[in-house]
Amino acid sequence: MGNNPERLFVKKVQFHGPLFPHEAIARITLSEKIPWRQRSDHLWLSTDDRPAPRGYLGKITCDSKQVVRSFFRLRPPTICISTDSCPQDGDIVRLLPKTPAIEVLFESNSPHNALFLTPHCNCRCIMCPQELSSGSGTLTEINRRIIRLMAPPPRQLAITGGEPTLVPKDLLAILTDIKNFLPQTDVQILTNARALKNRSLTREIAKIQNNRLLLGIPLYSDIDNIHDEIMGSKGAFHDTLEGLYNAALYRFPIELRVVVLKANAARLPDLADFIFRAIPFVIHVAFMGLEMRSAAELNMTKVWIEPQEFADPLLHACKKIVRYGFPCSIFNLPLCVLPKELWGLARQSISLWKRVFLPQCQGCTVKNHCGGVFGTGCKNPSSIAPIPDGFLS
Ligand code: SF4
Repeated sequence: MGNNPERLFVKKVQFHGPLFPHEAIARITLSEKIPWRQRSDHLWLSTDDRPAPRGYLGKITCDSKQVVRSFFRLRPPTICISTDSCPQDGDIVRLLPKTPAIEVLFESNSPHNALFLTPHCNCRCIMCPQELSSGSGTLTEINRRIIRLMAPPPRQLAITGGEPTLVPKDLLAILTDIKNFLPQTDVQILTNARALKNRSLTREIAKIQNNRLLLGIPLYSDIDNIHDEIMGSKGAFHDTLEGLYNAALYRFPIELRVVVLKANAARLPDLADFIFRAIPFVIHVAFMGLEMRSAAELNMTKVWIEPQEFADPLLHACKKIVRYGFPCSIFNLPLCVLPKELWGLARQSISLWKRVFLPQCQGCTVKNHCGGVFGTGCKNPSSIAPIPDGFLS
């Protein structure tokens, strides 16, 4: 299995009970009747005090009064996890060797699951919230196991990294598996598209013929130097444009993703014009708020801008994008920091495991429609304030 699995998981959960001697990927199930040959890939989730049926990898209980059972009995082991972090039926977890913790890799009730292909990237974005790594190894086998255990299949799934096109063989293998095992799942590859300027790679991806595939590609400015500075890599702007044109040539649907930060905020309306003139084939434009962790946190003074400072250019850019006929969305920004005219474009986009509401959100009249803020970042907008009753009338 891979050497860099640390970024694979959604959350890590401690347990009480016997330690597993080997690494294993397992699906959580409430069923006692999993076919015999598949049992060793399953952990039985139960509240009653019986041990797991024979053949299962083990049993998970959230009832701390139950006796944990070791491997030295005839039945599979029982481990105990506290109720508030107990995995759900259909979740996929990774058991760590000789460690009292499991990693949740896939949450069956979340619309925000992703397969992490590599920790490497060919850019160093100044606001990147990912923890990139210089380690080696492949995560393909883990991801293939995860895909085969996904049941029922998720409605949507992201493929991310690092930069997933940097491991083209792995990417093609995973896309082929998704086509075969998850034919009803919408798939989004999050890529900077630089590698797609290599037309043969773009063609290979197209040959898989998954018509549920969408490319999510970032473009931060209409000015090459600004985009390159944000991406931390000279030449990124022109590479990405070439990648965009190749993707269009092979008729990939493309979502353009524009993170808003200090360096590009003022020119958002110009970027909207550029999108219309230079890449009119994109099917969706998303403006995105910052997640202030990792590189974004390190580069705080270069990156951070309060939403009220970019409200005007964002409003004008969105109006232009809509007028030009593109579907337009705003991700990762709560309603109270946006001009009211933009509320209809705001989406609940922050992954459930990262999303929080602040104490001041108590009593906010639009909380049910709001996407909240990142609980994973070091900073959130200072202007967050509850929307009072009557504001909408
Ligand atoms: S106060 Fe909280 S719930 Fe209300 S709009 Fe702002 S972030 Fe959302």
